[in-house]
Amino acid sequence: NEEAEIQEQGEKFFVSVRLRPLNDKERARNSISDWECINNDTIVFKNSLPERSMFPVAYSFDRVFDCDSPTSQVYEEAAKDIAVSVLNGINSSIFAYGQTSSGKTYTMRGVTDYAVADIYDYIERHQEREFFVKFSAMEIYNEAVRDLLSSDSTPLRLLDDPERGTVVERLTEETLRDKEHLQELLSICEAQRQIGETALNETSSRSHQILRLTIESFARDYAEAGNSSVLAASVNFIDLAGSERASQTLSAGARLKEGCHINRSLLTLGTVIRKLSKGRNSHVPYRDSKLTRILQNALGGNARTAIICTMSPDRSHVEQSRNTLLFASCAK
Ligand code: ADP
Ligand code: MG
Repeated sequence: NEEAEIQEQGEKFFVSVRLRPLNDKERARNSISDWECINNDTIVFKNSLPERSMFPVAYSFDRVFDCDSPTSQVYEEAAKDIAVSVLNGINSSIFAYGQTSSGKTYTMRGVTDYAVADIYDYIERHQEREFFVKFSAMEIYNEAVRDLLSSDSTPLRLLDDPERGTVVERLTEETLRDKEHLQELLSICEAQRQIGETALNETSSRSHQILRLTIESFARDYAEAGNSSVLAASVNFIDLAGSERASQTLSAGARLKEGCHINRSLLTLGTVIRKLSKGRNSHVPYRDSKLTRILQNALGGNARTAIICTMSPDRSHVEQSRNTLLFASCAK
């Protein structure tokens, strides 16, 4: 019973907010930050202009990171435990959510690197087990799924496998030799992503990127390992499309389709997260978007999820920042 499972484990999501520093451009026009982090878990809106009086002033989460917190700290305190739980056979997801330019890609790159280092460190220290690490990478643009390890840009189909759940048909899955091999593959993904953007005359702000490490391990001494003689799970690192796409529905023409689709994945993700965090046994609409279908096993059940919401401090972004905090509040 899914309801019992969710309620037993209590807090479903670890939700954090990361404020980025003002960039050079913002500094050049003397922009200032309206936000302040206090007590490590609360972010406060400092501006008391009358037209802002409808804003709640303080928002609390599991953790908030001020603009001077390095990515290593964000990783250690908001993502590490969840990422390395894959080594115990628990599926997990780490999301970066926020408007374009708020720091999603910056944060996820660092978090992914630290997680990979920890995973390989663990593998080296556990010679009593044999590990197989596989890597796959995909991008969802306009509800079409593309393999980032292949130069073939034909959209991939999703299939329902009775044992494994939703699988992405023909998705490349590379068995990693070592972590240097992963760095090579990450460069390929980066190049593929740029080729796609150029072809579509677009930026990555409209697409979702999922990097997935699947780790299987076998105890060399089966008798001694008991229940954990064989373990298998995946950890997903997800750099979401800019969250401003969730509120832009009225753009015209060709953009409308894109807007709607990105809306669909982001909005469905929001609904799925809200339902799971409430722990009610209501219908969870995983099947309403490609993103949530692909991630179903890494969101529901026993899966562990970290949501890092990135925020721009700039005054001109205050409405989007507030939307991000409202999204983050819904996950609590
Ligand atoms: P997004 O992926 O959300 O669109 P990026 O990660 O590309 O945003 O960040 C936008 C810019 O801000 C980049 O130049 C990035 O290097 C910089 N940046 C983002 N977060 C930080 C941070 N915490 N510290 C320093 N620079 C940052
Ligand atoms: Mg980005």
